[in-house]
Amino acid sequence: MSELRFDGKVAVVTGAGHGLGRSHALMLAARGANVVVNDLGGALDGTGASTGPAAEVVELIAKDGGRAVANADDISTPEGADSLVRTALDVFGRVDVVVNNAGILRDKSFGKMTVEEFDAVLAVHARGSFLVSRAAFPHMKEQGYGRIVNTSSPSGLFGNFGQANYATAKMGLVGLTKTLGIEGARAGIKANAIAPMAWTRMTETLFPAEYAHKLAPEKVSPLVVFLAHESCPTSGEVFSVGAGRVARVFVAEGPGWRSDDLSAEAIRDNWDAILTEQPYLQPTTLGEQWGASLNEML
Ligand code: NAD
Repeated sequence: MSELRFDGKVAVVTGAGHGLGRSHALMLAARGANVVVNDLGGALDGTGASTGPAAEVVELIAKDGGRAVANADDISTPEGADSLVRTALDVFGRVDVVVNNAGILRDKSFGKMTVEEFDAVLAVHARGSFLVSRAAFPHMKEQGYGRIVNTSSPSGLFGNFGQANYATAKMGLVGLTKTLGIEGARAGIKANAIAPMAWTRMTETLFPAEYAHKLAPEKVSPLVVFLAHESCPTSGEVFSVGAGRVARVFVAEGPGWRSDDLSAEAIRDNWDAILTEQPYLQPTTLGEQWGASLNEML
């Protein structure tokens, strides 16, 4: 089995001071990538900052003979995201891989969630992923090559109590991933997303302690490595990953039901047909989705 290597490639991993990002950075570096280890170093809710976590991961990589540089920019700001990508260019001369992983939590039941709690979470997950991808995109386009891995979440894909802000951001990342997949295609840029499950400071109160090993971040990172590699065959896809299991998550549309005389009552009376899932359609562009509706009508 030939090893997936990243020799000569440069990877930027956001939020790589702890948890999943740390594991992604270590695994990419162990496979020869030059890694920019970004982490603001704040608390789980995004408050505070420290250069410590990113520096510690860089030290670990260096100890194993890898090449990495620490960066403590705040990726939720255009200045921070631009400066992060600039670091990759200044230190390593290029940027091939962006892993948008940084994240915070401000959980609150919907009725109690403030505008600030909503905005703060979207700023890191959705805006941050947009900003770092935006900063790297022209360089990837110019070299005709790039890999972007975004981090969604089962909370966004399926909904979760107390996470209206987080779920909005995480499902938003599915849209960003699919659009980047479409817009990057001609330039050799592929974008995919993971929806992970892992034992980190973000989830340690949710899972029993004996799950820590089974849910180690190292059981998620191999998928990030594959999606970040030049041999990755897909773009615009989302994968559920955790505890060693990898599964494709897809957005599909049922066959539908139509009437030339659509009314609310007709919809009520045909609700079961409208809810039917098979045979489903999986449009990869808006044109394919529109085509399905229009073909039936014409
Ligand atoms: P974590 O808290 O261990 O790691 C997140 C890292 O992001 C932290 O090191 C933090 O300092 C950094 N960060 C936060 N805001 C930043 C900013 N503005 N700029 C730069 N760095 C910033 O949590 P984790 O579980 O490793 O989460 C990693 C990603 O995976 C997140 O996007 C999270 O939402 C997602 N996720 C995790 C799980 C899980 O089961 N752990 C499930 C679904 C999604």
